[in-house]
Formats: sequence, C-alpha cells, structure tokens
Amino acid sequence: MRLSGVRALCALCCFFPAVWVGAAEVPNQTAPARPPTAEEATKFVDEAEQDLLKLWIDAGRADWVKSTFITDDTEILAAQANEKAISAGVRYAKQATRFDGLKLPAETARKLKLLKLSLTLAAPSDPVLAAELTRIAAAMEGAYGKGKYCPTKDRCLDLEDISRIMSTSRDAQELLDVWAGWHAIARPIRKDFVRYVELANKGARELGFADTGAMWRSKYDMTPEEFAKELDRLWDQVRPLYVSLHAYVRWKLREKYGDAVPATGPIPAHLLGNMWAQSWDNVYPLVAPKGADPGYDLTQILKSRGTTYVPMVRYGESFFSSLGFEPLPKTFWDRSMLVKPRDRDVVCHASAWNIDYVDDLRIKMCIDITGEDFATIHHELGHNYYQRAYNKQPPLFRDSANDGFHEAVGDTIALSITPEYLVRLGFIPSAPDTSKDIGLLLAKALEKVAFLPFGLMIDQYRWKVFSGEITPADYNRAWWALRLKYQGVAPGLARSEEDFDPAAKYHVAANVPYTRYFLAHILQFQFHRALSNTAGCTGPLNRCSIYGNKEAGRRLNDMLAMGCSKPWPDALEVLTGQRQMDATAIRDYFAPLQKWLDEQNKGKPVGW
Ligand SMILES: [Zn+2]
Repeated sequence: MRLSGVRALCALCCFFPAVWVGAAEVPNQTAPARPPTAEEATKFVDEAEQDLLKLWIDAGRADWVKSTFITDDTEILAAQANEKAISAGVRYAKQATRFDGLKLPAETARKLKLLKLSLTLAAPSDPVLAAELTRIAAAMEGAYGKGKYCPTKDRCLDLEDISRIMSTSRDAQELLDVWAGWHAIARPIRKDFVRYVELANKGARELGFADTGAMWRSKYDMTPEEFAKELDRLWDQVRPLYVSLHAYVRWKLREKYGDAVPATGPIPAHLLGNMWAQSWDNVYPLVAPKGADPGYDLTQILKSRGTTYVPMVRYGESFFSSLGFEPLPKTFWDRSMLVKPRDRDVVCHASAWNIDYVDDLRIKMCIDITGEDFATIHHELGHNYYQRAYNKQPPLFRDSANDGFHEAVGDTIALSITPEYLVRLGFIPSAPDTSKDIGLLLAKALEKVAFLPFGLMIDQYRWKVFSGEITPADYNRAWWALRLKYQGVAPGLARSEEDFDPAAKYHVAANVPYTRYFLAHILQFQFHRALSNTAGCTGPLNRCSIYGNKEAGRRLNDMLAMGCSKPWPDALEVLTGQRQMDATAIRDYFAPLQKWLDEQNKGKPVGW
C-alpha cells in the first residue's frame, strides 16, 4: 500500500528505501569569485528539476518492469536507473547549499529546501565511508529480505508463512515459537546497524543537521523540536482511546489464553495476531462483541455477485467520479497489473504509480475478491488521483503536502465505505441499525487505533538512537522500554543485548522513516470529518459517506492540486479549515466505541 517511484522528495517510495546513499561528492569546484545571485539560484533549481524529472521517469519505468517481471536482468536495469537518479539527487542536494543565506523568490527558496531535504540517508563525502555505508545499507535490507525461520532441518518458514501463522493460530506456544524464530533473523544485523548509525550521522552532519533523526524531522515545515512536540501533542489527544482498547483486548485475551496474559501488566506481544503487534484485526474473532454483528460480510457479497478484478477497481474509480474527478485514463486499464500473473514472479505488494508524472497512472496489485482488497483499491486509487491532481505543479512540487498526506487520502475515501454506501451500490438492501455499529467500529479500531502507538514509537526509538541518547549497549532494552511505554506490550520470553529486535521490522532494517504512517492515521480521520461536514453529514462520523458529493470532491481536489508547493499547514487549511493536525477527529469517529469500551472495562484494570 505504498506510493511508488524513485522520488527524491518526500521519499514515499518503499522499493529503494536505502537509496539515498549517493556516489561520492564531486570535489568542490574552484571557489566562485563572487557570491551567487538569486537568478542563478532559480536557474539552478529549474534545470535540476527538469533533469531529475527525466531520471525519475526512467527509473520508474525500469522499476515497473522489474516489479511486474522479476528477473536478474530487470533487477540490474532497475538498480542502474535508480543509481543514476539517486546520484543526481544527492549531487543537486549538496550543490543547493551554495545558495544558503541568499534572499530568494519564495518558489525558488522552497524548491532548494525540498532538494536539500530529499535525503533519507546522507552518505559522508569521504568516498571510502560512502561506499561502506552503501554496502551496509544493502546488507541490512538483504539480511531482512532473506530472513527465514527453520524449526526443523528440512522446514523453513519465510515471513509470509510466519505471518499466516501469526494471524490465524490460537496456540500460544506455536505463536511464541514463530515469533522468536523470526526475531532471531535480526541478531546478525546489530553489528552493521551500529556502524550504519555512525556513518549516516556523519553524512547528515556534513549537510548541517544535528544527526539523521533531526534530518528526518526537518521535512515538516517546522523545526525538528517543534515537530517532535507536535507528535507528543497528537499522541496525548488520542492515548485515552488506545488505553481503553488495550484494557478491553487484554481482558478478552486473558479469557482465551489464561495466565499467559497478565490481568494488569503489558500484553504479550506474540498474542495480538501480528508479528509486531502493530495491528490487531486478526484477533477480532477473539474479542468480538456479542450481538453486534453488522449482519453482512463484504467478501461474501462480492463473491456471491461473481465480482471479478476489473469491476472491483471500477467501483473505486466510480467513487472518485462521483466526487467530480475525471475518469482514469484508458492507459490505466491497459497498463495496470491487477491480477497475479501465472507465468512469472512479480512484487504483489500493492502500489500506485504515475510513470510519466503526468497521466500515466497505474496500480500494481494481486487482487483477491475480498472486502479488504475492496478497501485497498480505494487506498491505492487515492494515490493515483493525488498524483494526477498535482501534475501541473513544477516537478519538485509534484508530491504530497507532507508524507503523511499521501497515505491518508485513499484511506479517507475508504472510510466512506459505509453501510449506506453499500446500499447505494445495491450490495445490501438496507443499512443495519447503528446499534450494530460496535462490531464494525471495534474491527476498525483494532486495525487503526492499535496501530497508532506503534506508528509513533518506531521513530521515537530511532531518533534517540541517532541522537546518541540510546547507546549501542542498550539497543534492545531501550526498544522494549519504548514498546512498553507506548504500546503496553512486552516480549513473551526473555530478551538480551544479544538480540536486536528492532531490525525484525522491515523499515528499521531498510532505513525507511516511519512517522508518516502515524500522521496518515491521524490525518485520514481529520480529512474525513472535514469532508463529511462539507457534505452536510450530521449523523455519527462512522456512518458518513461523501460518495456523490461534488462539493466535498472540489475541496479535496483543491488540496490535492497544491502538491507540496506550499507548507503543509496551508494545504491542510484548504481542506479542513484547520492549520494544525488534530486527533480529536479520530476520537469523534470512535466516540460510540469509547463509550462501549468504558462500559466493558468497568471494574476491570485499565493501563499497564
Ligand atoms: Zn499507500
């Protein structure tokens, strides 16, 4: 569920997460006799972005072919195209510092800033160290990708196999066994990680940042310190809802697993249906409320109607059309990959593309006819409509307002897949009474509310690692201290500093910043609330659908069309009238659930 492409900008791309290690810096040219002018700066960014656009398009094409036809050759071709785009990005980022301190037209200043902030990993200028960092970054991601747990000599499980067990098994011992087996793959990454932190920080400091974490936090149109405070504020707003959910789920899991789940302490991390306990929807059957069944099953409906994959995507398209967006171009249908091919290896992980940065929109998915994929299609198309909406901006502004926005837009639309919407599609004869909403809300909370502390803590951890507040001697202990603090979970068996559990998560092993997912989970509810208001919905937020409302569509489009040409609070204001991110929307959305949880939790321990 990622946007794809080798974009320098907000680095949403997930396929080349370690990519911002560039070639060694070109040696300084002879010092200019006079300081550069504003005209030179504008000329420099204009040329840089035209050059980068070409390289991004080339890299995107190569990536597309590789992802839909994995062979040794396509992998090499994609790596080569990406290397070119990346080196150019690094080179321009470093050259952009030449204009520091100069008074510039606003647009030029913003473009220069975006160029400089494009890096997720900055290589030191010493070519030997740069090469070492490149090698380490690739080795860490490679070790994760090749990770397998082999319970017996002739039976090995990859992450996909293990995830299947994590999501479906109710055998506590088996769950602990595969949990520990997967986490063991991260141990060998520890040594590389220590060195990666040193080298990445060296590169970041050369660019003028305090450390790599500060570099990541600088991408949000405020100081790194202000941004960290904003996240604390948002978490404080939403934390009471999480604590109520945690208490309820702990109680229900204790009913299922007995003393393996403590009455008052943290929940064992292996019992929540997910390797990282980052979303808990897989344990829904264990915690489902009695008598709150919504009375329909979207997967069953789609299957019984004989829906195939093209019509699945057409439903998503028609939602956007109902808001006033142009239909998808014909090439979308010709070029997208919607179904898993039978004759070759592909990357099935869903993603959305705009190959030419204008109108060559595509999605790549291996669609199953399920309610989950029905929602995922809306999510991916959200990326596509965003990409098209900002395609008239200069290349450096063709991205989302901040990286949380891109992930939030499609999910905002998916929040409009309400019972009333399904009635309009003719899927169900009438919407169930809102008294049946607790089941729907609880299922959604297990997915979205449970995610929040995890989405936050990954980078809380890495910021402290990069700043040196957490030292290598404490890498694992500090990880669990933060998981306890934010998530209220604990490992099901003893851990030591021999372990390196953070790297059992892809984004840590692969140097992908994670805060955007936390932001997206906050923003999608804020967008949904604002658009529902625009659409005149006065009912409970979880029953508001903006389907068919042109005014909501116009507001959405106004924001999307801005790309990242302005600081994100400007974009947020266009859509919501607010300049601050606001987690009260997610509280509003789940208000009926909060009330219900509080009733369930009465007389039971809350907190950990
Ligand atoms: Zn996505």
